[in-house]
Amino acid sequence: MANRGALGGTLVLGGGFAGGYVARLLGKRGATIVSPENFMLYTPMLPEAASGTLEPRHVVVPLRQMCPRAELLLGRATEVDSGNRHVVVETEDGTLTVSYERLVVALGAVSRSLPIPGLGEHALGFKTLPDAIHLRNHVLRRLEAADSATSEEQRNRELTFLFVGAGYAGVEALAELSDLVRDAMRYYPALRGATQHWVLIDAAAKILPEIPTRLGDYAAQQLAARGVDIRVRTTLESVEAHAATLSDGSRIPTSTVVWTAGVRANPMNERLGLPLDDRGRVLVDSNLRIEGMPHAWALGDGARVPNEATPGQFDPPTCQHALRQARRLAKNLSGPPRPYRYRMLGQVATLGRYKGIADVLGLRFRGFLGWFVTRSYHLYQLPLLTRKLRVVVDWTTSLFFRRDIAELSMLGHPERLGP
Ligand SMILES: Cc1cc2nc3c(=O)[nH]c(=O)nc-3n(C[C@H](O)[C@H](O)[C@H](O)COP(=O)(O)OP(=O)(O)OC[C@H]3O[C@@H](n4cnc5c(N)ncnc54)[C@H](O)[C@@H]3O)c2cc1C
Repeated sequence: MANRGALGGTLVLGGGFAGGYVARLLGKRGATIVSPENFMLYTPMLPEAASGTLEPRHVVVPLRQMCPRAELLLGRATEVDSGNRHVVVETEDGTLTVSYERLVVALGAVSRSLPIPGLGEHALGFKTLPDAIHLRNHVLRRLEAADSATSEEQRNRELTFLFVGAGYAGVEALAELSDLVRDAMRYYPALRGATQHWVLIDAAAKILPEIPTRLGDYAAQQLAARGVDIRVRTTLESVEAHAATLSDGSRIPTSTVVWTAGVRANPMNERLGLPLDDRGRVLVDSNLRIEGMPHAWALGDGARVPNEATPGQFDPPTCQHALRQARRLAKNLSGPPRPYRYRMLGQVATLGRYKGIADVLGLRFRGFLGWFVTRSYHLYQLPLLTRKLRVVVDWTTSLFFRRDIAELSMLGHPERLGP
């Protein structure tokens, strides 16, 4: 097995929000990032990539550009030997060990799956860029299927879209995709007057439970005014290829069930032998150091991070928190360690084109202003000026041109050569 050392002695596992920012902020101290992809996904813009408002390539930031002083090793960490201070990494070219002086674990989260009959076979996830592109293509295919449907029953089924989980990801994805379908319908004359049915369900008592009640109520009103059928205190019981059964006893004919019902810490944490809580999150102290591992730190969605600004409460899985934790950790790795402390400045979400909600520094915005504040905030947070400009160009283009409705599921699956 080949051996190598981490650049500057710091090895960062995971190139997402948390890991990518730690490596970026370490600057000339250097770091080696281990990541299966060569980019960081800017998840808050994923719904817009799914609806086609943004080019999928523009919602990712290449790690080599984002962290020019760091080294990137494309692969997956599969073992940590904390005694000998090395990590085993599987790459396309084989397995190698990378030795480190300081280890940063930032493996994020995966979709939380539940043992619901048919979920794995028939529901679609919404966590990664391939998920977003697949969902877009799937929705456009449903329009094609509805267009050529031989019965009204089949047409209604193809135009019914069920989202399970009314957190940010579910609400924003539903809002963006319903805009896409509304715009695309003009190209399907046979579907003129056909009814679309968008359903949003959640086990909780209200949608967007994370945000202040007034804004959450506004979001619910906006979605309801657009005809979204919101059902709270409702869960998914089972999924089939063309129907879903809910806990309220209803059976919804649909070919689209999107699962956005939360995340759980990356199960790789357990395989790496790290100390975990009962939710699989890595246990860290207030300096973000992993309990019992003096040379290792963890942060982001995959860690249980105590926050001095919110005693007794651990950080929620958001990129805002991952980014602040990364700032603290980069400083702690470069100088005398100080406890992590961050008070959230606000929360923002879009509800499709020109509508949004924002709660920033105690000021609350909704409607067009909420949408504008949300977009400005994300533009500010997105790393790299070139990426910001590309996104602004996409947004501007979407103001003047109609949406593209090409369905490109064949991308990435070229035809094989040969007879
Ligand atoms: C659709 C969606 C919308 C969201 N919208 C918002 C929002 O609007 N606002 C907000 O604050 N938060 C939002 N979030 C949450 C936000 O994305 C996360 O909190 C944030 O990404 C956490 O950062 P992280 O680095 O811990 O994890 P990630 O960003 O998920 O990064 C983890 C990285 O680890 C890599 N990895 C996994 N296994 C291995 C391995 N074995 N070896 C090496 N690398 C590995 C992964 O490929 C990934 O790059 C959203 C999430 C989703 C899914």
